[in-house]
Formats: sequence, C-alpha cells, structure tokens
Amino acid sequence: MSDQDLKLKFETMEAGDFKDFAKAMTDYIAEYLENIRDRQVVPSVKPGYLRPLVPEQAPEKAEPWTAVMADIERVVMSGVTHWHSPRFHAYFPTANSYPAIVADMLSGAIACIGFTWIASPACTELEVVMLDWLGQMLGLPESFLARSGGEAGGVIQGTASEATLVALLGAKNRTMLRVKEQHPEWTDTDILSKLVGYCNKQAHSSVERAGLLGGVKLRALQPDGKRRLRGDTLKDAIEEDVRNGLIPFYVVATLGTTSSCAFDNLEEIGEVCSSKNIWLHVDAAYAGSAFICPEYRYLMKGVDKADSFNFNPHKWMLVNFDCSAMWLKEPRWIIDAFNVDPLYLKHDQQGSAPDYRHWQIPLGRRFRALKLWFVLRLYGVENLQKHIRKHIALAHLFERLCSADERFEIYEEVTMGLVCFRLKGGNEQNEELLRRINGRGKIHLVPSKIDDTYFLRVAICSRFSEESDIHISWEEVKASADEILKAR
Ligand code: PLP
Repeated sequence: MSDQDLKLKFETMEAGDFKDFAKAMTDYIAEYLENIRDRQVVPSVKPGYLRPLVPEQAPEKAEPWTAVMADIERVVMSGVTHWHSPRFHAYFPTANSYPAIVADMLSGAIACIGFTWIASPACTELEVVMLDWLGQMLGLPESFLARSGGEAGGVIQGTASEATLVALLGAKNRTMLRVKEQHPEWTDTDILSKLVGYCNKQAHSSVERAGLLGGVKLRALQPDGKRRLRGDTLKDAIEEDVRNGLIPFYVVATLGTTSSCAFDNLEEIGEVCSSKNIWLHVDAAYAGSAFICPEYRYLMKGVDKADSFNFNPHKWMLVNFDCSAMWLKEPRWIIDAFNVDPLYLKHDQQGSAPDYRHWQIPLGRRFRALKLWFVLRLYGVENLQKHIRKHIALAHLFERLCSADERFEIYEEVTMGLVCFRLKGGNEQNEELLRRINGRGKIHLVPSKIDDTYFLRVAICSRFSEESDIHISWEEVKASADEILKAR
C-alpha cells in the first residue's frame, strides 16, 4: 500500500466510520440513561472479572467500531455501578445532564489546553464570566467576583480537594510573608513548623490530606451536639495554640459535611478568623448548590468573611464531573506563591486576563466552562432551583416514611437531599441492616459513624428520582428490617 493509499484509508475512517460510531454512541447514551432504572444498581461481578473478557494485548490491526460497540454491554456495563439510577443512594450525588455531556463532547473536539489566556482566549474568558454568573446565582458577595473590577474572581478546579489544598497554600504563603516581616531572623523552616490550621472533626478527609500535602499541622476540632463547628471552640483552640508558640493560619468551614450534612456556624467562625487575620476557606462541596435557592442562604451567613469559597456543580447542579467552582478574594497569594514563568508560557497580553495555570496545581486544563454555560442556559436558574428543591422534598418524603415506623430513628436533621437514619438499637443491628439492604441488590446505600454511633445514609442522587422511587427504596429498607427483626 502506498503512502497515499494509507493516508486515504485514515481519512476515510475518520470521516466515515468514526462519525457513524459517534452517532451510534449518542443513541446508546440516550438509551442507557433513559432506561437506567431497569438496571441492577450495583453489578454482581467479582474482582478480576474483566481481564478474561478482553484479549491479553492491544490489537495489531484496527477493529471495526461495531466490535467495540458490541463489547460495551459485555465488558463495561456488566461491571458498572449505575450512579444515576434512582436506586443509587450512596455517598453524595454526582451530576449528569445531556447539556453537560454535549458540552464535554465539544470540549473534547476543541481539545485546547487553556493554561494561559493566549493558549485559548475563549477558554479563559468564558470561565471568568461563568464564575461570575454562578457566584451571583449563589448570592456570593461581589467581593468574590471578577466583575467587581478588582483582583477577585472564580476558577474551575477539578475537585473540592484541590480547592482546599490551593487555598491552604495561599494561606500559608500569606502568613509566611507576614511572619517574616515581623521576625526577619526566623527561617522558613522555623515558621513552617509553627503553622497550624483548623477544621471540624467531621470535615472531609481531603482537608486532613491538604494538611499532609501542604506539610502543616491541621487540628480537627470537636463540633457541638449538632455536629457544627462553633466559633468559641475555634477561638479557644487558636488561643491555646498561640500560647504554645504556634501560628494559626488557616481554617476550613464545612457547609454540608459528608457524614451527615451538618453546617458549621460560618458567621461565628468568620468573626474569629477576621479578628485574628486567619484565612477562612469554605468547603460547600455538596450543599453549595442549594444556595442557588435563596431560602437556603441562611446556612452560609457570614460568607462575606471568607477568603475563599468552593462548591461542586459536579455534585448537585447537573454539570458532569469535573467542575469544582472556587472563588478567591485575593488570588495573588496563590498566583505569587507558585509563579514560575518559563519563556515558552509567556505572552504579550499577560496581566490583562487571568492565566489560570497560576490558580491551580496542574498546568493543563480542559475547556470546562462550556459545561457550565450549556447547563445554565439550557436549564435556566429556575429549573436548576426546581431540581434542588425536588431532591430536598424527596429526602423529606423518605424522612416521613422512616419517622412513621417506630422501629427507626432519624439521626440528623434533614436539611438537604440526605437522610441519616438507623434502627433504634445497637450498631451491630444497623450493620446487619445495611448488609441485608445492599445484599438484596435492589438499592445501594453506604453507612457512616459519628462518635461510635453507626447509621445509614440515603442520599437522593438521581435526576430521574420520583416519589415512586423513594417509596420503592423505603420498601426495601423496611423489608430488610423485617428480615432481621423476624430472625431475632
Ligand atoms: N468536601 C466535602 C464536604 C465532600 O462531601 C466531598 C465529597 O463528597 C469532598 C470535599 C471531596 O470532593 P472532591 O471529590 O470534589 O474532591
């Protein structure tokens, strides 16, 4: 085959076969999502199931796309946990919508790496504007938004974990510079060994990890009876540490903890942080989406005192993973902290728009603002609010069903789309209940434990969930409880 023939063969495949593949996959995706309710939520495969289903090596010769298509069900779907099934109640939701999927297709086609403005101006500029749109939807103070005309603004990080780490590094930089001015005789190592940050004991594990990655101490503080971190507890810990020669520099307030969706008292924490010049980061990974509904904004009262704020539209706002929105009042502490400027990344317009490579850990970044733009335009704020309110209403429905059965108790007040509940009685009985529920294979739940009390969590996750689905899930819980209690 001549070079020309080879070239033609490639062109034919790209133009013809692969386009058909894309069209067939689009149909498959719609079919998959529209009928997801009929699939078994967690697959019954065993570890190692997949290797025998595929060849030992990559094929030498190209295969037809139809062969790949034929393997999707056999190889992939047989081992998929269907996170978008209304029977899936584990963890927190992860978002899924056609507008976001289509935006990801376009982003995949453009396939730019928008690390600087010039690397793809639309990628940066749409992100700046989308974060302003989103910030206004949440009711964030103008002091977080780029449209305020100062240095503030938003950025899309991959995950909330990255946002917590980036904020910690900014806080560390700000404090190091301040302390160096006060104590020029201290070395970096002296100062670093004294830095200490704080969070609720119920904060997500990514906060502890940020401390480890950032090489600083983080203290997990005891929350109150409602699992909220309070201002007095924080103040006492800070004062104790200062007495012991430490330098408090960073606080993470969680709005919507992973275990039970509790909300730290941001107003009190904000007062303490601003009076002591400590960087306050807000982690609202899941619950932040609810702030697009004004009736839930009381839970973020005090946000004006924060230095950075983060939530995941990729959890509860119909924007597929990954899209973690972060706002910074003074991004300079992050930009300056990690500013390495090789010649090949410089450009003539530097300084006129953000070069987002300085706001994040990796260099490369995808065109993720497209997902936000498509979702915000094609749903509109109104429908996104309806989505949040519906999930919360469905959680309250489950709560009512559970409360009406005297064998059960609700463990935590239901404010968002999460219900924490347990059988009245010991942990063992509740562990057995979860084993039964998941063992029956119809619905999927995960547990949690706070202060030695084991409980079950039902998170409303699917955009397809209806009242009838909640009744089905409740019947499953009830049937499993019947089995256990009868056996006793
Ligand atoms: N923070 C909270 C409160 C969470 O609930 C979670 C995950 O559920 C995270 C952080 C981690 O999110 P990500 O996977 O985006 O890092």
